[in-house]
Amino acid sequence: MHIDHIGIAVSDLEAAIKTYESLLDSECYKREVIEGQKVETAFFNTGESKVELLGATDHESVIQKYISKHGEGIHHVAFEVEDIHRELERLKEKGFRLLGEEPSEGADNKLVAFVHPKDNHGVLVELCQSKS
Ligand code: ZN
Repeated sequence: MHIDHIGIAVSDLEAAIKTYESLLDSECYKREVIEGQKVETAFFNTGESKVELLGATDHESVIQKYISKHGEGIHHVAFEVEDIHRELERLKEKGFRLLGEEPSEGADNKLVAFVHPKDNHGVLVELCQSKS
């Protein structure tokens, strides 16, 4: 398991892209709207792992709710797994609470699922599996 990306909630995606382009000295290589989550994502390559900026596309967005409550900042850490269904079963057996029973379509051509932050010492954990 390795860290696939770190998700960062931002209130102004355009401004955040400029900031991270300067910070990382690298261009945003992909932008993608995830309709189901009312989120627009912007990705940066940082070696083995990526940075995923998350901006709300709607005031109903989970990202908007997150920012209203916590402000901007690190939203989740995503670990890449080979078999997301098997990992979810394993975590469920160990008593972790999952946000949703089944993986859903995420950005970057991946299946994603989330583990409740209260079970991970305050960190929202995403599991992701590349769809081939
Ligand atoms: Zn993510």
